[in-house]
Amino acid sequence: MRLSRYFMPILKENPKEAEIVSHRLMLRTGMIRQQSQGIYSWLPLGKRVLDKVNKIIREEQNRSGAIELSMPTLQSAELWQESGRYDAYGKEMLRIRDRQDRPMLYGPTNEEMITDIFRSYIKSYKDLPLNLYHIQLKFRDEIRPRFGTMRSREFMMKDAYSFDLTQEGAVQSYNKMFAAYLRTFNRLGLRAIPMRADTGPIGGNLSHEFIILADTGESEVFCHKDFVNFDIPGEDTNFDDAASLKSIFDKWTSVYAATSEMHDEAAFNAIPEGDRLSARGIEVGHIFYFGTKYSEPMGAKVQGPDGKEHAVHMGSYGIGPTRLVPAIIEASHDENGIIWPESVAPFDVVVINMKAGDQVCDDACETVYAALSKAGRDVLYDDRDERAGTKFATADLIGVPVQIIVGPRSIAGGEVEVKDRKTGARETMTVDAAIKRLAG
Ligand code: ATP
Ligand code: MG
Repeated sequence: MRLSRYFMPILKENPKEAEIVSHRLMLRTGMIRQQSQGIYSWLPLGKRVLDKVNKIIREEQNRSGAIELSMPTLQSAELWQESGRYDAYGKEMLRIRDRQDRPMLYGPTNEEMITDIFRSYIKSYKDLPLNLYHIQLKFRDEIRPRFGTMRSREFMMKDAYSFDLTQEGAVQSYNKMFAAYLRTFNRLGLRAIPMRADTGPIGGNLSHEFIILADTGESEVFCHKDFVNFDIPGEDTNFDDAASLKSIFDKWTSVYAATSEMHDEAAFNAIPEGDRLSARGIEVGHIFYFGTKYSEPMGAKVQGPDGKEHAVHMGSYGIGPTRLVPAIIEASHDENGIIWPESVAPFDVVVINMKAGDQVCDDACETVYAALSKAGRDVLYDDRDERAGTKFATADLIGVPVQIIVGPRSIAGGEVEVKDRKTGARETMTVDAAIKRLAG
């Protein structure tokens, strides 16, 4: 991508409305634009990051055996009357009427709809277990939307729903998602801690919130320091092996961790003082097992091996991609801007032409840009007619992991500078060596 032709509206001033660093940086780098309160457009730079986050989420859901589909944002009120949640949900639900005056709503979540899909097709325990997910916009008319896309009214959610014949099966489905979540957040460059959670209006028996620690987080959390060193389940995790999934779950729930709603002061104080961590956190995922709460009233039943009908045991599993993007920035930035983990960076490399218009610089930049693009890397080429200082500041601000700096002096000797955004380390090398290093 040539920056001169790209759409990346960088703001010179710090936006006044932004209270936290991620919101400030997302506005300054032109990643998002507020369209009305708590409703955002994702501009091209932001969209790139969001797509990469979703790709990782999708890969890990698929790896665990979940199957993707897509449900609409608008739902009929009838389904919600069946489950009893139409009235219970209150003002967070955006209610709409169509031209026939039928009550509709913009979905805040999809338990009812997925239960309806399930009951329409699945009749036998032989088709279980089943886990269906989608990545779709949701709407919740939050009292206090704030911090940009961290808490917005329209937001994206990956929501998965599992169906099992028995509670035992449902717990295994829960453990699959538990392991998949640990892998997902790790690949996003985050250390998320699963904490016993309140089941809230979704209701249920077993629930964990996945929380990343950050000073600007809205939740107050208490946990054992050991979480920092726990191993993440590997790529070779066998999602069909109930025992190994259980051992991952047991390990990650073996020491104390709770949000303020579930906090047990005595249990926390039993941890040696030096190992206690009392901090603030951002909820990036939430998983629930809620048994037959929806399947019972909505008649989602299957025939069991005993020939009888059984309401299925269900769980639901959410991750918020549009919250994760600012959460990653909260966890990874410095005074000059964002520091993207490689896995979600909008570009892998930025090529900085210090003297656009100088033939030797232009040629070298074109060579590097073409070679790395051909190698499949996402390359941003800063070919703008701007001062070198402005280009350095932009590259640091948008947080691309590696910068290749092409200046008239060093290129005369056939060399460029390669800078690591995170460490600031710089290395001088030939054009060929830089290409070789970064081609992949
Ligand atoms: P919170 O406690 O932050 O209000 P919640 O408990 O209502 O969230 P869930 O129903 O568990 O949220 O939704 C699953 C995930 O969706 C959350 O873990 C979060 O990542 C994301 N999410 C929920 N509400 C919002 C929002 N208003 N803006 C952005 N992401 C959200
Ligand atoms: Mg929650």
